Amino acid sequence: MGAKIISGTEVARAIRAELKQEVAELQAKHGVTPGLVTILVGDDPASQSYVAAKNKTAKELGVYSEQITLPVDTSEAELLQLVEKCNRNAKINGILVQLPLPKHINEAKVLYAIDPNKDVDGFHPVNVGKMVLGQQCFLPCTPHGILELLKRSGINTTGAEVVIVGRSNIVGKPIANLMLQKREAGNATITLCHTRTRDLAAHTRRADIIIAAAGTPNMLSAEMVKDGVVVIDVGVNRIGTSASGKAILAGDVDFTAVKEKASWITPVPGGVGPMTITMLMKNTVWAAARAAGIS
Ligand code: NDP
Repeated sequence: MGAKIISGTEVARAIRAELKQEVAELQAKHGVTPGLVTILVGDDPASQSYVAAKNKTAKELGVYSEQITLPVDTSEAELLQLVEKCNRNAKINGILVQLPLPKHINEAKVLYAIDPNKDVDGFHPVNVGKMVLGQQCFLPCTPHGILELLKRSGINTTGAEVVIVGRSNIVGKPIANLMLQKREAGNATITLCHTRTRDLAAHTRRADIIIAAAGTPNMLSAEMVKDGVVVIDVGVNRIGTSASGKAILAGDVDFTAVKEKASWITPVPGGVGPMTITMLMKNTVWAAARAAGIS
């Protein structure tokens, strides 16, 4: 059996078209322009390209965006001051501090400093707590994007055995939490695996849905999955550089082999990646509407 491909590129395009319309309406009816600031400390090339992509998408949707790049030796106090300034800036509805931060800066302290009402990454403990309680809040972008991919592909998660590989705060833990909630793209039975899991394949082989978020290329092989499985590959692994100097990317899944057994599968690139940025924009537009008392 050949799997149907879940194109994150196409789903993201559809959501971006909806958002563009929403932004135009916010502007026309309420005079509100959503605003996003991205803050990058240092010159890590991967982070630079993520931030550039976020700003480009914001502009395409009509979202006001500011990109602030600080030198790698910026102190924690200076960064906290900047975050405070952005918290007070009425033009800014969403604040994104690109991670990872240089080692001398306490990441948790910086994330806590962001106004939870502008925390469009959904990493502030207030939003994490609300998410766990099933209350309305900014959902973290990658897990939110995965939910949308499942919903818009018509994949039924109710009662499904979902195996998640990876327990990070930004992907594994939140997607586990969201998919067990009583809601659309939820109601699943969750198993969360990691490097200390005794027999990973024993778990993945009985899964109806596998979410691979390990950051280990080709970690999930065809022998580890059952026929008809749905596979969401979150991994983005740089496995080399092309002749033109572009990074060659691979997911966590042996795509060529696994797609022969799966019913649905996301590719890398073009799967979860485009959704992450799109959900950031969705959160930013919602933040602006909320700040204006419209939503
Ligand atoms: P982390 O490194 O923070 O976490 C990886 C998790 O996977 C850890 O819990 C680790 O276990 C587990 N793990 C790693 N290798 C194995 C293995 N062989 N078997 C079982 N468990 C394993 O990564 P992130 O969650 O931040 O990211 C995961 C991947 O997703 C990365 O490739 C990243 O680039 C990508 N990503 C993609 C995004 C997108 O938009 N497409 C957004 C965010 C991330 P342990 O805890 O025991 O160490």
